[in-house]
Formats: sequence, structure tokens, C-alpha cells
Amino acid sequence: MHTEYPDLPDVSKSLDVLVVAPHPDDAELGMGGAICKMIRQGLRVGVVDLTNGEPTPFGSPEIRAQETQLASKCLGLEWRYNLGFKNRFLEASLENRHRLAGLFRLARPKWIFAPFWSDAHPDHVAATELVEAARFWSKLTKSDIPGDPFHPERIYYYYCIHLKLVPQPAFVLDISAEWSTKAASIEAYQSQFVTGRTLPPEGFIERYREEAGFWGKTIGVRYGEPFASKEPIGMQDFQSLI
Ligand SMILES: [Zn+2]
Repeated sequence: MHTEYPDLPDVSKSLDVLVVAPHPDDAELGMGGAICKMIRQGLRVGVVDLTNGEPTPFGSPEIRAQETQLASKCLGLEWRYNLGFKNRFLEASLENRHRLAGLFRLARPKWIFAPFWSDAHPDHVAATELVEAARFWSKLTKSDIPGDPFHPERIYYYYCIHLKLVPQPAFVLDISAEWSTKAASIEAYQSQFVTGRTLPPEGFIERYREEAGFWGKTIGVRYGEPFASKEPIGMQDFQSLI
């Protein structure tokens, strides 16, 4: 049906949220708790991986695809797609912008999540730029972009960063009830975090658990996930503030 997007999952019903990830595992690391929470609350959440993330020292495209499937299952994610851009060579090019904008127009997510804008990994920096540009292009009329003009209302940024930054987030989400699911989704990527590593698997997850505990502490809960925003965050009321 959509020849530019082979094997695209069903888009007949709009997504509420689309998470854009440079590589399979970034969405889980940065916001696995939020994804799990939104799905449990009945939101229709999708993840689009821009590249297949390979090559890596202990992975292969096949292994990574299997791990991605398992991680999606852990989170309860039914909608996931890979745009097939080239790993390590990701660019915010016009061609890539066109394809991502078309995907926004077909999937029609109200909110999009992008990687935090400052990072050491060039693919991550390119991904952020690409998402912002594609969000704008998505609303253009009189263009040959697939689908109808559409503008995702909000864009937020998750932290999956390779720089040793201390983030100053715009908000922190309570993921205390979702932590174990997030951990399982990260552990699905054995080739990235376990195979051939000197740290035992519990050592790797333990680091992420400590980090989630740190963010939880900042808002007075057990585990948290930080998010950034360039635009002001709107609120209807104070009921959900903690
Ligand atoms: Zn990445």
C-alpha cells in the first residue's frame, strides 16, 4: 500500500505517540519506562528505529532484529518500524527528512519523542536534527511527501546520551512500577550489553537501576526517567503533579 514504506505496521488508526530512535535499544534505554507506562494507560505508542544499529562488535543484523523483537514484546509495544537508514552514516539529509516526514503524516502521532540534542554520537545528533526538520516538513502543503499535511503537536526529548552529561530535565516521570519491565527490555539486547563484556549482566543493569533511582530521588519516588523540552510544557491542572 505504501510503497515507500515496505512492511509498515497498520496506520489506519493514528498513533498517540511516536518515539524516534537512532538505533534499536536507544528507545528502551532512554524511555523504556515511559513507553511501558503509556501503553499500560491505553495510549497507542509506536517506535521507529532509524537504522539497524549494526555493525557492532558482538551483534549482527539478524541478532539485533531478534533482540529488538524481544524488547518490544517486553514493553508491550505493538507498533515498531525500521526506516533502514545507514548506521554510523546517519544524516539529516533532505531525502531522509522526506521519508521521516512521510512517516509522521501516515502514522499521525500527537506527540513525538526524539533523542536529546547534545551528544557525542553523530547518529544521535543527526537523529535529533532530522526529527525536528521532519516535524516541520510534515505539515507542508503542495509537496510530494506521502500522506496528508500533519503537524505533531508536541516534541519531547529523552536521554540516551554518550556524553558524560548531567542533564537538567524539564520533567521527570515516575517509573517505579515500570522499572522491572524497562530492565527486561534492556536485557533483551544481549549482543549490546552482555555478550563479550567484562561486566556481568547484573553489573550493567545495576548501573541503569542506580541512574533511575537517582532520578526517582529528585522527585521523591523510587525510580524516574528524565525528559527535556525546548517548548513550554502545557498543563490542564495540578492533579498529576507530584
Ligand atoms: Zn544509539
